[in-house]
Amino acid sequence: MKISRFKKSHKTLVFFATNFDYREPYQVLIDATFCQAALQHKIGIDEQIKKYFQCGVKLLTTQCVILESEALGAPLTGATSIVKRFHVHKCGHEGKPVAAADCIKSMTKDNRYIVASQDRLLQESLRKVPGRCLLYLHKATPVLEAPSKASKKWVQKRANILMLGKQADKIDYMKEKQGLKLTESPTNPKKRKGPKNPNPLSCKKSKKEKAKTPLKGVQEQSTLTKAKRKRIKIPAHVKAALNKD
Ligand SMILES: [Zn+2]
Repeated sequence: MKISRFKKSHKTLVFFATNFDYREPYQVLIDATFCQAALQHKIGIDEQIKKYFQCGVKLLTTQCVILESEALGAPLTGATSIVKRFHVHKCGHEGKPVAAADCIKSMTKDNRYIVASQDRLLQESLRKVPGRCLLYLHKATPVLEAPSKASKKWVQKRANILMLGKQADKIDYMKEKQGLKLTESPTNPKKRKGPKNPNPLSCKKSKKEKAKTPLKGVQEQSTLTKAKRKRIKIPAHVKAALNKD
């Protein structure tokens, strides 16, 4: 396998492992359409998939897939014999089998399966759900499909939420650094002890003070007149000169 192709599939696997908890050994859920395509292109599924992923993989199918393939009869005889070789996972439809596509959809709801199928309708349906991972055959080559728009959108949305969270943390950190207490939020300031404005009763007192002030002025005036008297006190030699006249 070419290195660039390995890089591409590895990148996709990392995306699903990081964002949707896919874990090694990766579980590959195979249906009869995938087996049919493998048969047509004469490839060994087990060998090719393991070579493609180059890491731990587990190949499995369900009873519903096998039953549907068997029911389709002759055209799928080869595919049926191939799909039967894989480990059969319990799907919850035991005794009441459903269509293979419906079974696979329900299986992917709670578990991390890489769905190996050539069923276009099933692929389209799974692409609409974030976190669904698809594998298909392009002629004889397995291809792990790049994450769908729905998956990318989901991851972006979550990233935005995390980013906003971090932004809030940054603001808190800056506030703390600048000495602003985080407990004192501007929307709920602490109540100050005592009245904000002077007591109106204390304001009335000022009237009394106003009444007092003229008295004070009188006192001041008297002291001023005393001072003036002192100042206009005629010196002795002037008095003597005046007395001469
Ligand atoms: Zn089933």
